Amino acid sequence: LFLTFEGIDGSGKSTQARRLAEHLRAQGRDVVLTREPGGSPGAEEIRRLVLEGDPDRWSAETEILLFTAARRDHLERTILPALEAGQVVICDRFADSTRMYQGLSRGDLRALVDQLHGLMIGREPDLTILVDMDPETGLSRAKGRQGTEERFEDFGPELQRKMRAGFLGLAKEFAGRFRVIDGNRDMDTVARDIAGVVEQALV
Ligand code: C5P
Repeated sequence: LFLTFEGIDGSGKSTQARRLAEHLRAQGRDVVLTREPGGSPGAEEIRRLVLEGDPDRWSAETEILLFTAARRDHLERTILPALEAGQVVICDRFADSTRMYQGLSRGDLRALVDQLHGLMIGREPDLTILVDMDPETGLSRAKGRQGTEERFEDFGPELQRKMRAGFLGLAKEFAGRFRVIDGNRDMDTVARDIAGVVEQALV
């Protein structure tokens, strides 16, 4: 089973991905927890290239190519081998993040993102958990986080709102594999809801 978590910055998706991995491991399942951008040695190098340093270093188009290259490496080296070995793969962000961030934040480049995805990735998750979160709350949580190297946290409230609406739109577009979870509740309640949804998918 290939599971992904999506959501805006500060939505709590990374915490929830970790908790789900722990929950499934406690049931004796073999789980690989991974993330994007990154998730393989090569893709982690690309992560540094895109997330650190001058935000204007890459054009919007080059950035899409870098994210797609990172995803291809991650897929080849980490995700597909794990799925073939029968493991449950939980990935913190995947192609839906590129559809949103690279597809919407610097102009409308969604068509280009989808074309490259079709050419080089072609794989969608079996199940995507969208941790939906109020944009202002998400932003203040993301800003309160310490030690992040990332430039993208400067996104600001307007883009945060746009991304939130965009993710909800994606959940409608790919309704078959998306489940929207209200992330504005306490962490334990959110974790229980997610575990319930995933257990249904595993039977
Ligand atoms: O999920 P995580 O917080 O690790 O993401 C790191 C940063 O990279 C976030 O600020 C996110 O907005 C950004 N990002 C992006 N495009 C992606 C994936 C992540 O701009 N495709």
